[in-house]
Amino acid sequence: MKSLATRASATSFYTAPIRIEPLCLKCHGAQEAAPPGIRDRYTSAYGYRVGDMRGVVSIRIPTAKFEERVMRLWGGQLLKSLVGYATVFLALGLILDWLVIRRLTHLRVSTQRIAAGNYATRIAFRQTSRKTDEIVDLAATFNRMADEVQSRDRSLEKLTQAVEQSPANIVITDLRGQIEYANAACVNDTGYSREELLGANPRILQSGRTPAETYRALWEALSHGVKWEGEFTNRRKNGEEYVEWAIVAPVRDAEGAITHYLAVKQDITDKKRAEAEIHNLAYFDPLTDLPNRRLLMDRLGQALIASKRSRAYGALVILDLDNFKVLNDTRGHDIGDRLLKDVAQRLMAHVRQEDTVARLGGDEYVVILENLSEDEASAALQAESIAEKARQALGQPFILDGSGYRHEATASAGITLFQGADASTDLLLKQADVALYQAKDAGRDRLRFFNHAMQAAIDARAALESALRHAIGNGELCLYFQPQVDLQGHIIGAEALLRWLHPRQGSISPAYFIPLAEETGLIMPIGDWVLRQACAQLREWAKDPASRHLQLAINVSGHQFHQTHFVDQVAACLAESGIDPSRLKLELTESVVLSNVEEVIERMQQLKALGISFSMDDFGTGYSSLSYLKRLPLDQIKIDQSFVRDLTENPNDAAIIRAILAMSQSLGLDVIAEGVETQPQHEFLTQCGCRSFQGYLFGKPMPIEDWHTHFSGAAARVTSVDPVV
Ligand code: C2E
Ligand code: CA
Ligand code: CA
Repeated sequence: MKSLATRASATSFYTAPIRIEPLCLKCHGAQEAAPPGIRDRYTSAYGYRVGDMRGVVSIRIPTAKFEERVMRLWGGQLLKSLVGYATVFLALGLILDWLVIRRLTHLRVSTQRIAAGNYATRIAFRQTSRKTDEIVDLAATFNRMADEVQSRDRSLEKLTQAVEQSPANIVITDLRGQIEYANAACVNDTGYSREELLGANPRILQSGRTPAETYRALWEALSHGVKWEGEFTNRRKNGEEYVEWAIVAPVRDAEGAITHYLAVKQDITDKKRAEAEIHNLAYFDPLTDLPNRRLLMDRLGQALIASKRSRAYGALVILDLDNFKVLNDTRGHDIGDRLLKDVAQRLMAHVRQEDTVARLGGDEYVVILENLSEDEASAALQAESIAEKARQALGQPFILDGSGYRHEATASAGITLFQGADASTDLLLKQADVALYQAKDAGRDRLRFFNHAMQAAIDARAALESALRHAIGNGELCLYFQPQVDLQGHIIGAEALLRWLHPRQGSISPAYFIPLAEETGLIMPIGDWVLRQACAQLREWAKDPASRHLQLAINVSGHQFHQTHFVDQVAACLAESGIDPSRLKLELTESVVLSNVEEVIERMQQLKALGISFSMDDFGTGYSSLSYLKRLPLDQIKIDQSFVRDLTENPNDAAIIRAILAMSQSLGLDVIAEGVETQPQHEFLTQCGCRSFQGYLFGKPMPIEDWHTHFSGAAARVTSVDPVV
């Protein structure tokens, strides 16, 4: 122990032995070895040995001073240390704050934002060195996480938006069928608000018109965990029914358990309606709602098959209103339509439930009667009874407009029977049609059955049609000319009348083949041919002063007159032939001018502007109203031969002829009487004021060669009572 510290009340002692240490020997060893400064100054104090005790050192220090000094030293030291530590701590704090706390706070704030759903938030740290630390790594991880969440969120939002805004009606229900979600289209389609829909069962939409089978199939599919597709007829909140196409599918969770049902539906009401309309247009007559020709043929085909199975006879009945055209032309199409609708209803009411009533077009109706007897005669009786009842029903007066206009109609009917499917639908329709024509021919307002003699007529007619197609090309058509004379018997012109000189059948009457030509459209080329021939003849007559004044009348059928280019056709013909248009006269019948009067007047005026004139043919057989006569730009009226024929015996006909003549005079119209065969007829007509005549009395229709033979020479005059030919 080198030191000893003793503490007295106010003083501190330090006492210690002084011992020789090897270092001391440097000066106090041998004298000779001592350094010169020591050796020279001190003679003693040599020869010491290490470890000798050479004395005691005792130091006394006043304690207070010592303590004060110690305290001063220690205080100073402490302060320095404190300042040092404080500085270090501060610096450490700052570094910690800079490097950790701030970044952690930033990290915390950012993650809180992300947690709050702000997925656009990113944690940004300034890169201080190339090396990254854990916090930067952590931040980068958070950023990646935010990226991922944000991208999922975005796509989810797009998913969600698409569902909400989808034009398809989307509904999600729980397993009990309660609606948990309904999109905007669902709200729109059903008319229920979202609040009303949520929690409700889709049953609220049921109209009661969806077949029970549909719901059964739906639940059957869902219970097997598979999707179902089908059609519901539902009802909107406002009571309106609508049809929707639905796909209903189970929704499964991650484990595959079904948690919900998803229904995606589309309102197909308009589509269904359009489909129905198209179907209706294709198969039903829009005026009467009856099946049209197409559906009729379809049903007839089915009836034939059914008859083949059952061996029961069926019948096809065609009913046609007599003189419907006159009503249509005189009272207007609205009234005509009204009659057609009423007829449809009466027919429906007077046939059996299972019979099909269809409208063929115009005023022609067809009834298919099925399940008649297996015996032909009995079946005919049954068919006749039903058809006659329907026909009689049409004979009852119709009240056709608000003013109580009462229309009395009659109808004709043609019937053909069928058994099995041997006859084609076309053939049956033709047979019934032939029977109908027989009924009309026999005086209308009656019923006729088709028989085999009629079949022969059908075949003949078909053969005729095909022959007529070649008649023009084969040069089989020719014009005959029938003279028209004035009061003095001078020839003033002719009516050109068509003849068909069939190579085997000889001359065929236009009364027979003109209707066929009209039906088949052949009247267009034939009418054109007549017009050209007439113009050519007028050009010939124009060359001779003796025949230059003659007027030639041609008959123009309705189809021909109503075709679009008729006026152009006439104008072209006039221009090509270079004839005086006032020499050409067109004969129109009342049925031609009465259909679409306005258009006819305009067309007649266009033709009159070309310089040609008009004669009203068969006058008195149609409607013969003064009101329309006044409006038509006519030049002449031709009294129908039916009045002339009987005028000497029938006072009625005589009265009609007088009336026609008086009326025409007041209207300033020229009158010609046709079918004048006898002198008494001629005299009567002359007395009544008729100035022009046509008929066998003056000449039959004749070929142009005969005409030249009979009427050559200037101002040919026919005075003979004997027919010329
Ligand atoms: P329609 O225009 O009334 O012609 C008059 C018809 O009466 C002609 O018959 C004529 O031969 C006949 N006839 C003339 N005078 C007498 C008479 O004194 N007594 C009797 N019993 N009959 C007489 P046709 O030539 O057989 O013509 C029949 C119908 O065919 C014509 O009736 C006309 O509607 C039509 N037709 C004739 N030629 C043409 C034509 O070129 N085009 C058109 N679209 N129709 C024509
Ligand atoms: Ca005529
Ligand atoms: Ca006539």
